[in-house]
Amino acid sequence: MTVQTLKEQVLQGQPISRKEAEWLASQPDKKALYEAAHEISRTLASEEFDMCSIINAKSGRCPENCQWCAQSSHYKTQAEVYDLVDQEECLRHALHNEAQGVARFSLVTSGRKPSTKNMEKLCEAVRHIRRHSSIQLCASLGLLDEAQMRALHEAGVTRYHCNLETAPSYFAQLCSTHTQEEKLRTLQAARNVGMDVCSGGIIGMGESMEQRIEFAFTLRELRVQSIPINLLCPIPGTPLEGQAPLTEEEILTTIALFRFINPTAFLRFAGGRSQLSKQAVKQALYIGINSAIVGDLLTTLGSKVSEDKVLIEEAGYHFSDSQFDREHLWHPYTSTTNPLPVYKVKRAEGATITLESGETLVEGMSSWWCAVHGYNHPVLNRAAEEQLGKMSHVMFGGLTHDPAIELGQLLLPLVPPSMQKIFYADSGSVAVEVALKMAVQYWYGRGKSQKSNFVTIRSGYHGDTWNAMSVCDPVTGMHSLFGSSLPVRYFAPQPRSRFGGAWDEQDTAELRKLVEAHHEELAALILEPIVQGAGGMWFYHPQYLREAAKICREYGLLLIFDEIATGFGRTGKLFAWEHAGVEPDIMCIGKAITGGYMTLSAILTSNEVADTISNHAPEVFMHGPTFMGNPLACAVACASVKLLTSPEYDWQGKVERISRQLQEELEPARDLPQVADVRVLGAIGVIETRKPVDMAWMQKRFVEEGIWVRPFGKLVYLMPPFIIAPEQLTKLTKGVMRVIK
Ligand code: PMP
Repeated sequence: MTVQTLKEQVLQGQPISRKEAEWLASQPDKKALYEAAHEISRTLASEEFDMCSIINAKSGRCPENCQWCAQSSHYKTQAEVYDLVDQEECLRHALHNEAQGVARFSLVTSGRKPSTKNMEKLCEAVRHIRRHSSIQLCASLGLLDEAQMRALHEAGVTRYHCNLETAPSYFAQLCSTHTQEEKLRTLQAARNVGMDVCSGGIIGMGESMEQRIEFAFTLRELRVQSIPINLLCPIPGTPLEGQAPLTEEEILTTIALFRFINPTAFLRFAGGRSQLSKQAVKQALYIGINSAIVGDLLTTLGSKVSEDKVLIEEAGYHFSDSQFDREHLWHPYTSTTNPLPVYKVKRAEGATITLESGETLVEGMSSWWCAVHGYNHPVLNRAAEEQLGKMSHVMFGGLTHDPAIELGQLLLPLVPPSMQKIFYADSGSVAVEVALKMAVQYWYGRGKSQKSNFVTIRSGYHGDTWNAMSVCDPVTGMHSLFGSSLPVRYFAPQPRSRFGGAWDEQDTAELRKLVEAHHEELAALILEPIVQGAGGMWFYHPQYLREAAKICREYGLLLIFDEIATGFGRTGKLFAWEHAGVEPDIMCIGKAITGGYMTLSAILTSNEVADTISNHAPEVFMHGPTFMGNPLACAVACASVKLLTSPEYDWQGKVERISRQLQEELEPARDLPQVADVRVLGAIGVIETRKPVDMAWMQKRFVEEGIWVRPFGKLVYLMPPFIIAPEQLTKLTKGVMRVIK
């Protein structure tokens, strides 16, 4: 056993044992221990320093007898005594901290727990702060039950703090008025209502190093990710007033061990650090302290936020300059109270994204399928600039313009020959809405207004607007959430015959049954041809489309292809319908249409559908968004389509090369026990894991690997820009393989 091997073990995700931790503590070579802990911190813990602050909202007169505490009524101390401060005072502190970039603010009160009246006042204070500030709120109010936790959580508190204080084997010697079990129940109550927890303690209260290790393991077992570490300030008048201070070496060794035992947690410097020399504080930051309670602490003096920041930055940490973002901007599928981290982009060029923090990442997502030519492309830039000089927008009602006409002329030869009419829209989801409306209005025109419902296949994804959402997968989609407000559609099973595999004739049997039973109310079948994207990254057999088209013709349903993700070469064909040679009645395209420069989509349909709609009252198609046919977007789309289809660009050669390389370089993942499937089609490579991945952790690891990949569920997938260089693609695949391993 060496310090190095134990460090490697932790870095590999294997916890160390208590015996091993005790062995580490006994090693005379402290430098090696500190270095190893530093490496664990840098690799597994956050480098973004997390600052929180507190207000001592009620002080003194505590009936509990914790021997370290200035606020206990059992001891005569100089601590201030006052009742609950009013909500304005709480807000003033919160705003002051928010302005200084402090991420969280905690209301702390003395006592076993607040009275009913004070509890109400505290909840009101929380609501008051949330109305006027976006700082995240914590609370530390003693031993609350679940009902009280729920009230706090509903008011706006997202994290509850309750220190275990010390090792289970030592606690009873320091406090007899309550037990650690009560604290554990409090933490559990907080978790039960959906709050995060924060729990640590005080070192230097006479406990042994073994007990500090026991304490760190207790926190580990509780999966606490925010661990305040206080150094005892012996308060005159308390039983611990004469307690000899720990040496700096004991303190630093403890921090190193806490890091070994809790590798990903925020180890938070709290009270007492002013006893340390500046050099020791720096060492503590180096070893593993990556968060702090800043500002004035409870009864001991804390520190000034600005001074702390200097010291922390000197130690190599950075502060998130995205505080406004975190506090006010809502990202896709993200909580505002517990947001996933976001990375700030400074610029993007070719197949790379450069972050504000300086790292350059190879782009594996094409910004969700759209940036096929990479970023900052001179041809697309020029098209946008030239169009800007003419007009960026005019309404499409009663007016038309070259970019819209030219784009139509460019698109028609690329799509199924029966597609003759083009309707421009704003985004993919809106395109789906428009397509569904077209189908309903078509049947209305034909005097069959009862044909107004839809059938689709499971595991599909068609967007987040109302009707688009209704045809997304009913389980992984948002159906349960929106319940009866969502139209009820018919769902056939997901096709099981793989692309490139054998065709199972039974695959469309259920679809046929459904259509047979309900065709009189069905306007159309909508699906993503060949590749189901956000619903599961699944590639299915082209024969499915041929059979599905037959069923639609037989029973009088329109066929809608959603090619928003699959369009413009991604699957190895310019559009995915070509894999099957089946023409739809309506087709949606979007995403890559502008090379990812701006949002634009188009809905294409046949003369038959368009004429039917137009020849029957109300004789117009009832849709017309403000930004329809936006000239700037159309001009860039023209440039993008011309670039893509120019012989020199050779999109097919590019996609084939990416495909081969993805196949070769991802194939070894198949042998990993945690991998369920590996599949590649065109410029899409998918690794399906057996268990859902931890997105926040994985994304951070990918960034460390210098790649931009955003997994979801059990899917880690790559769909790089077509212009990616082979070395860049190798960096992507190697990074993915390493992180998955
Ligand atoms: N359909 C499909 C197949 C998609 O992949 C998406 C976007 N992921 C959409 C529709 C919705 O497009 P948008 O996000 O532009 O509204």
